Amino acid sequence: MEKILNYVNGAWQEPRSGMYLDNYDPSIGSVYSLIPDSDANDVSEAVTAALDAFPDWSAMPVERRSAVLQRIADLIDRDIDLLARAESIDNGKPLSLARSLDIPRASANLRFFATGALHFSSEAHTTGTDAVNYTLRTPLGVAGCISPWNLPLYLFTWKVAPALAAGCTVVAKPSELSPMTAYIFSKLCIEAGLPRGVLNIVHGIGPKAGQAIVEHPEVIAISFTGGTVTGKKIATTAAPMFKKLSLELGGKNPNIIFADCDLERALDISLQSSFSNQGEICLCGSRILVEKSLYNQFVEAFVAGTKKLKVGDPLEEGTDIGALISENHLNKVSGYIDLARQEGGQILTGGKRVIVKGRCAHGYFLEPTVIVGLDSECRTNQEEIFGPVVTIMPFDTEMDAVHFSNSTSYGLSASLWTENLKRAHRVSAQIKSGIIWVNCWLFRDLRTPFGGMKQSGLGREGGWEALKFFTDVKNVCVRL
Ligand code: NDP
Repeated sequence: MEKILNYVNGAWQEPRSGMYLDNYDPSIGSVYSLIPDSDANDVSEAVTAALDAFPDWSAMPVERRSAVLQRIADLIDRDIDLLARAESIDNGKPLSLARSLDIPRASANLRFFATGALHFSSEAHTTGTDAVNYTLRTPLGVAGCISPWNLPLYLFTWKVAPALAAGCTVVAKPSELSPMTAYIFSKLCIEAGLPRGVLNIVHGIGPKAGQAIVEHPEVIAISFTGGTVTGKKIATTAAPMFKKLSLELGGKNPNIIFADCDLERALDISLQSSFSNQGEICLCGSRILVEKSLYNQFVEAFVAGTKKLKVGDPLEEGTDIGALISENHLNKVSGYIDLARQEGGQILTGGKRVIVKGRCAHGYFLEPTVIVGLDSECRTNQEEIFGPVVTIMPFDTEMDAVHFSNSTSYGLSASLWTENLKRAHRVSAQIKSGIIWVNCWLFRDLRTPFGGMKQSGLGREGGWEALKFFTDVKNVCVRL
């Protein structure tokens, strides 16, 4: 059975304890590889390697740093089929999605930050004729990057690329549930000639390996994407150490459909925003709010569209919905469907586990599920489910739509569908979410700041924000 290895100081190594964890293929429900069960000793070695590599990497001309990162991006593009297949097996997502979204976005992340760093500038302020102040930005040091399982290589590179481009060295931990593409990535880093110690990847579980990264005194910034509960734990550890923190957390995103929308397009994209990647995208719209006059028509068409989605073997062409990440997660999501029933919800379609014939008979598949009849305050409409489950609720007025949208503790993203330009701007300004999509979903320009409000996160990633995050800032005031 294949053993994933840690990548420390430019080479693969076994965990110091010799202990390994099982890595499951969720589409067949069986272990298919082993991953290091790393602990604080492995993290400590990785941090030492990153510290040693920092002086040279941070002093390297940015053109050379950029070139190495772009070489890694080229290798990702070269190996796109291998990576997409590995990610589909590791994660349960349809191969077609990994091929069209996850892996291309991973190489785009590298290219974006590698070239962005070439054009990074800072500010100067003249104080009349008396002084000139300039802002000096220098790489921070060793950064810790911790990423989740749902978009494994996409989110791993979203953190690691700006850190490396800014001149930091990194100790990173991918999720223990989907570590394979980060392991393959380490092979590409070696092939691309990334100097040793610049990036170190320590595999293992969050409370052990992840926590050791957060606690390590020499790791001075933490960039984390994951659940809100974990984010709180990380903030509790890191805040008293005055570490720089970027937290990208959960969401319970509204998808608002006004009666004047382009209905065909709103339906088509809403099916994607509800069920893409089995609903396991932090930006999925899990609460659909529909203006009353359109409600019945929308619900009928949306349910019909949902019934057409094919749940099946992620490696097969034509599969829309693959396996959920783990048996635990399947049980958690199914538990929320039971909760919705207890809260008075009506399941219009879905709600049951799917047994896929053939090699996937023991995989973790769930029908895409549509629930109506719940109010906005119930737990089903307040808590992040993170699976192929959506609720649909009617609303009367624009004010009600805004009120329902803002009624959870989350504020990650929102979509709204209307042909009324003034309303689009008005509602966008009132919704408390870090990103609002008008008549679209998941359309991303990597230059824009990205992040959540309220319990969806702290700080902004993307564009200059991410490069700035990984730098120390000082003002130099020169008296003339
Ligand atoms: P988790 O919070 O469970 O885990 C995220 C990462 O943190 C994993 O690598 C995990 O390791 C690690 N971790 C867990 N505990 C600790 C700890 N104490 N110290 C350090 N690291 C730790 O999230 P999931 O992996 O379950 O991902 C799903 C969540 O991520 C959802 O809530 C989703 O909304 C959110 N998310 C947010 C995004 C955003 O941009 N805002 C984007 C994508 C997802 P391990 O897996 O080994 O436990």
